[in-house]
Amino acid sequence: MAHSEPHRYCPYCGGPLEPRTLKPGEPPRLVCTVCNRADYLDPKLVACTILRVDDERIVLLRRSIPPQTGKWVMPGGYVDRGETVEQAALREALEECRLEVRLRGLLGVYSYPGYTEVVVVYTADRIAGELEAGDESDAFQLVHPEEIPWPDLAFQSTRDALTDYCEREGISRQNSEGARGEERPGSFPDRVRMTRHPSKDPAQGASAHGVEPTEHRRSDRE
Ligand SMILES: [Zn+2]
Repeated sequence: MAHSEPHRYCPYCGGPLEPRTLKPGEPPRLVCTVCNRADYLDPKLVACTILRVDDERIVLLRRSIPPQTGKWVMPGGYVDRGETVEQAALREALEECRLEVRLRGLLGVYSYPGYTEVVVVYTADRIAGELEAGDESDAFQLVHPEEIPWPDLAFQSTRDALTDYCEREGISRQNSEGARGEERPGSFPDRVRMTRHPSKDPAQGASAHGVEPTEHRRSDRE
């Protein structure tokens, strides 16, 4: 999982950190025992697109790196410091699908108690490029909303954003699931395209989308 581990040492002076309550009612902060500066654990911002390529079909990418390897996500990734969220969404679409896209609008912002990532999801359209699975994925598929493989989506934010998208497009999740064919790993439908460029760097296995879609939530954090 992509939760960045809390620092053990002060990023300013290298002194050991210890949890201290700075303000009543707020969670304890990691404070340096040498220089007394607090090391605030900020959320991680993620920008994603529900990307329409032609007619009504949207892009799903199959993750080739942990966590949730083999599961499907929409294009997206971490926002760099100093970058706008919109720029990050455009950049990630280019890196992950080789597509130049235009953002249509904000779909939603997804965050979950106890989790590091805050996921901002836009709707977008292709303006140029040929779809290809790029960084961090080994296959793509173009699906109509009715064909979304709900049980095989990677993260809770993926499910929640696609659910909102379907609602907005007037397609109920019920219909979507009912219309879904039997698609299990190993027998991919025709629309799944394998990429010629599997991810080269499995070490960079950060999860940019956060929460896994399983019902159980991790309880071993912080
Ligand atoms: Zn310090």
